Amino acid sequence: MLTTLTMLTPEHEELRKTVEAFARDVVAPVIGGYYEREEFPYEIVRQMGAMGLFGLPIPEEHGGMGGDYFALCLALEELARVDSSVSITLEAAVSLGAMPIYRFGTPEQRERWLPKLASGEMLGAFGLTEPGGGSDVAGGMRTTAVLDGGDWVINGTKAFITNSGTDITGVVGVAAITGEREISTILVPSGTPGFTVSKKYSKVGWNASDTRELSFSDCRVPAANLLGERGRGYAQFLQTLDEGRVAIAALGVGLAQGCVDECLKYVRERRAFGHPIGHYQAIQFKIADMEARAHTARLAYYHAAGKMLAGVPFKKEAAIAKLVSSNAAMDNARDATQVFGGYGFMNEFPVGRFYRDAKILEIGEGTSEVQRILIARQLGLGDL
Ligand SMILES: Cc1cc2nc3c(=O)[nH]c(=O)nc-3n(C[C@H](O)[C@H](O)[C@H](O)COP(=O)(O)OP(=O)(O)OC[C@H]3O[C@@H](n4cnc5c(N)ncnc54)[C@H](O)[C@@H]3O)c2cc1C
Repeated sequence: MLTTLTMLTPEHEELRKTVEAFARDVVAPVIGGYYEREEFPYEIVRQMGAMGLFGLPIPEEHGGMGGDYFALCLALEELARVDSSVSITLEAAVSLGAMPIYRFGTPEQRERWLPKLASGEMLGAFGLTEPGGGSDVAGGMRTTAVLDGGDWVINGTKAFITNSGTDITGVVGVAAITGEREISTILVPSGTPGFTVSKKYSKVGWNASDTRELSFSDCRVPAANLLGERGRGYAQFLQTLDEGRVAIAALGVGLAQGCVDECLKYVRERRAFGHPIGHYQAIQFKIADMEARAHTARLAYYHAAGKMLAGVPFKKEAAIAKLVSSNAAMDNARDATQVFGGYGFMNEFPVGRFYRDAKILEIGEGTSEVQRILIARQLGLGDL
């Protein structure tokens, strides 16, 4: 059982190796340019689609690969060892875009959206956060959806939505207030009149990924676009976020491990005071600590994923995995940049990109403070 396993099955190891080779041979040589140009890497995403990565946890009957969520996590980790923009594009498309439709959608919604989402031909997104609040998302939500005849009429604004404005974005799940103390999710196809996608934010990191503000002004979609049951939106996004945290933890482990990878190469080549800098114990200890952080964070997400796949509660483990993984990513990115000295501050080396990309891991899909709140609640401290 995966709950106690730390070794991969032959199938998972084969997938891991395939994505590792793709990241090294296809992504690594070109992604720095996309990042500096703040350009979405359509060609890389197309190839990821051809490999089946967008369909990893989706059953074959819906056009997916029939794998599991852990397989997705392994792919996210291997991509993030090289680049986080590409990894978050996959994470948001599958975990936030496609999985809610698979988990909660009607047969018609699954049939309409999943084959294109699973092939990567189309990207999905999930609009939960609003300008007024992400942590207290229910308290800060102002977006409304009102039934009028056979349509939902949506009004409101969503902030920071990943994958929502690419040329291949097809659908956004929008969380909206549909009644008193009632939140529902409504699927809004790209291009629907009244649905406006703003220009890309200028970001500190994840610069080759797509993040936008969305606004809805009397935006009408058919009543049948309600995702699952009316009033289940809150429960849906809690479940989606629990799973998403395991996926983001995998991405953070990838970034943390990528820092080790880069340092191992650099400290053999860079010389100071008559030796390669890797000769000095101060540098060796830094890298040993980096490896230990990546390793322990990996065990945390494997454990959370194992519980998820076993169908037992994993909320606490998912929050722990995300917390320790984002800490590992931040610490490793800082140390790796230090090991690289001045070159660590130059965009020509990946570690500078890792440094910029690490910070969002302490914020997105629940801040580190929110993870601690979730862990404390699971320990019974929530009602004190
Ligand atoms: C690049 C990027 C991509 C994103 N992609 C998506 C996406 O695809 N879909 C989506 O819906 N959202 C997305 N988000 C939004 C993200 O999930 C939120 O930014 C995040 O949840 C935090 O919400 P906030 O920004 O409103 O911060 P706030 O909730 O305003 O928090 C501000 C600070 O207060 C702290 N805080 C809040 N409440 C408490 C408390 N009770 N105790 C202690 N501290 C507290 C927080 O931890 C944080 O440090 C994305 C964000 C970014 C930057």
